[in-house]
Amino acid sequence: MALRTIRTMGDDVLTKVCKPVKEVTPRIRTLIEDMKETMYDAEGVGLAAPQVGILKRIVVIDVGEGPFVMINPRVLETSGEQTGTEGCLSVPGKCGIVTRPNYAKVLAYNEDMEPVEIEGTELKARAMLHEIDHLDGKLYVEKVEGELKDVEALEDDEEE
Ligand code: ZN
Repeated sequence: MALRTIRTMGDDVLTKVCKPVKEVTPRIRTLIEDMKETMYDAEGVGLAAPQVGILKRIVVIDVGEGPFVMINPRVLETSGEQTGTEGCLSVPGKCGIVTRPNYAKVLAYNEDMEPVEIEGTELKARAMLHEIDHLDGKLYVEKVEGELKDVEALEDDEEE
């Protein structure tokens, strides 16, 4: 396993639409392991393959319940609404207020290319939808209400 370099906003790779995965090859397995390691090293709750420069529809997430992988994820259902602070490993040191559905149900494939339905609310739903946006070349900054803030400034005046 190895840490991969996280691409940051301004890098073209973050604006591209990623290609579906047809087969989990040994190379893709290595990529997934590297993505997990890179996510934990950066203290993120999710990472999408384009963030490490790979234009494939692969996401890893861990919102504190253990890691899971979503290959070729598709949003089946969303409901409700949540408004909260969001950040991104590709936009270091910044955060902003984003409104998203409070619930999401996603159909994806796991590391063995078995279909899995994953449901989540609150942070888990937010993370899944944020990461799936990356696969379509979208960054959360497009959805921010108001302005991007510095994380440090926010930590001073909010308890989160
Ligand atoms: Zn992100």
